[in-house]
Amino acid sequence: MKRILIVGGGFAGLWSALGAARKLDEAQATSDVEVVLVNPTAHHSIRVRNYEDDLDVTLVPLVEVLEPAGVRWIRGTATHIDAAAKTVTVDTDGKATSVAYDKLVLASGSHLAYAPVEGLAAHAFDVDTYEGARRLEQHLETVVQEDGGGKRTVIVIGAGLTGVELAAELPSRLRALVAAQGGGVDQPAPRVVLVDRTSLIASAMGGAQPVIEQAMTEMGVEMMPGVDIKRVDSTGITLADGTHIEAATVVWCGGMRASPLAECFPVERDALGRLPVDKHMQVAGVANVFAAGDIARALFEDGKHASVMSCQHGRPMGRYAGHNVAADLLGLPMLPLDIDWYTTIVDLGPWGAVYTEGWDRKLAAQGQLAKKVKKVINCERIYPPRTGVRADLFKAAEPSVQAPPPIGKQTSAGDSAEG
Ligand SMILES: Cc1cc2nc3c(=O)[nH]c(=O)nc-3n(C[C@H](O)[C@H](O)[C@H](O)COP(=O)(O)OP(=O)(O)OC[C@H]3O[C@@H](n4cnc5c(N)ncnc54)[C@H](O)[C@@H]3O)c2cc1C
Repeated sequence: MKRILIVGGGFAGLWSALGAARKLDEAQATSDVEVVLVNPTAHHSIRVRNYEDDLDVTLVPLVEVLEPAGVRWIRGTATHIDAAAKTVTVDTDGKATSVAYDKLVLASGSHLAYAPVEGLAAHAFDVDTYEGARRLEQHLETVVQEDGGGKRTVIVIGAGLTGVELAAELPSRLRALVAAQGGGVDQPAPRVVLVDRTSLIASAMGGAQPVIEQAMTEMGVEMMPGVDIKRVDSTGITLADGTHIEAATVVWCGGMRASPLAECFPVERDALGRLPVDKHMQVAGVANVFAAGDIARALFEDGKHASVMSCQHGRPMGRYAGHNVAADLLGLPMLPLDIDWYTTIVDLGPWGAVYTEGWDRKLAAQGQLAKKVKKVINCERIYPPRTGVRADLFKAAEPSVQAPPPIGKQTSAGDSAEG
């Protein structure tokens, strides 16, 4: 029995596993090759929803989707890859096991990258992982019980996509938490401050940038661009000019870096620590190893644009990596991945959302119209089928690139929409 091993059960890993199982099924090779997925937890995390208030809906049990597809799951964390010996060391509850592979797909994603700011890693919360988002939720529930001393102030550091989505969600979420504590309308409004060292909030958002500023203003989020943070501690943040902003909660949304497993290969990585992959998702210069998602950098056919650390790219990269790893093992033709569109849809909480098209981020929709698209993406499009039916999973795992999420028609000035 040969083995395809997938490391990681996120967007890229899950779809690699299902893509490989689908191809083996199609080639009637399931009795010759097994697909095994290693992931530390029992869940596929819909990580892009970690800024939302209901975290229960963000977890999909892995067995629910892997079992019908005939994929085996090993609970554990890969700690080392030996490409020459074709083995992965997997740690499960402190016990190390060596798992052999014939072909490997590396899809261990990315993790939060901290800026060199005193006290940041020790004191800041995050929404990078499900566990991080739960810690923040539990902390907020406790801390808002009292007013004063910055207890009802949250500082979000980093006004990129994640920071903006979280900051937009927080005013209404904090108000609901205060109300749940019995706080009436006479209570001072909780304070949400979005800070960034760049001179503009959401500076990379092209045509959506002014829309984001407008939404933040209308929701009462204080924006502090061009800020240099010197220290973070349990009382808040201190700026380089000595100003102290009192806050019991500081959340770091400043950046991501590829999983350290990328360092197991003697390959030049990009500035984010990603492994270069070719159009088939094979790691350049490393035999039998494919990579997909945040740990991989694929250049698209136009030769100008590379994959972005995103669910938008991680899912198709996974489907193609899965198809190709199985095809390669069986000596069948592989398929090239090319994605010729790019969209960015940023959730702006109760205000709505903003939708841009193209790499230069031209504004395409805003408000409740864009929110409707965002909801379809976050609640439907990026989930695997939950029917438990093998054929449904294999259909969704086909190596194809979906069309961009459709924007409905703007039916009135009041932003109503159809999906
Ligand atoms: C709050 C937030 C909002 C976001 N919003 C968007 C958005 O709107 N649109 C968008 O396109 N992207 C968004 N992203 C980015 C997106 O979530 C990532 O790009 C995407 O999750 C990458 O998929 P992945 O499979 O490569 O990694 P992940 O989804 O992170 O999955 C990696 C998996 O590998 C596992 N793993 C890690 N290390 C190991 C190891 N050593 N051994 C075994 N398993 C391991 C992890 O536990 C995890 O299950 C957002 C991210 C965050 C945090």
